[in-house]
Amino acid sequence: MKIICIGRNYAEHAQELGNEIPESPVIFMKPDTSVLKKGSDFYIPEFSDDVHYELEVVLKISKGGKYIQLENAPNHYDEIGLGIDFTARDLQTKLKSKGLPWELAKGFDGSAVVSDFFKKENFDLNNLNFSLLKNKEEVQNGNTALMIFSPEEIITFVSQYFTLRVGDLIFTGTPKGVGQVIENDFLEGFLEEKKIFGLKIQ
Ligand code: MG
Repeated sequence: MKIICIGRNYAEHAQELGNEIPESPVIFMKPDTSVLKKGSDFYIPEFSDDVHYELEVVLKISKGGKYIQLENAPNHYDEIGLGIDFTARDLQTKLKSKGLPWELAKGFDGSAVVSDFFKKENFDLNNLNFSLLKNKEEVQNGNTALMIFSPEEIITFVSQYFTLRVGDLIFTGTPKGVGQVIENDFLEGFLEEKKIFGLKIQ
């Protein structure tokens, strides 16, 4: 199983970190060991003083393929969920400034929080609200209508480079409002009005 992540897929998030709006999807990956075990707390790693949450809609690949055409892309995923792309922002900033890959800041153990998954037919993927509460206060609120690259465009683009397999996950990018977590924070993710995960920070 691999985890493919899209960076800068919401204009206002790209701007909040001082990045340009991309012309093609910005791609990075997390190893399968980055997935936080269900029910576990998230532990801030010792190598960072500035770990950020990034709430994202996650697609689960249900049918493998390569060179997937745009019109066929909807047939390759049948479930969606939410995830947190935890990011060691201080480390990422350092790596970015040197033009180095981001993996250390993005792929560490526990950095991929993944909720349960739900049939995509139950949602309007072109107009899907999702939000994150930190200590009962809303910190992120996104809508998939604001994505620069749609799920179908992402699948088409990514599958030119990587063969997609059943069970692969695609993190589709975070909306604006990313921020730091500290010990004892509590995060809650909502898909529309439905709470689908809660997470304690240690
Ligand atoms: Mg992200």
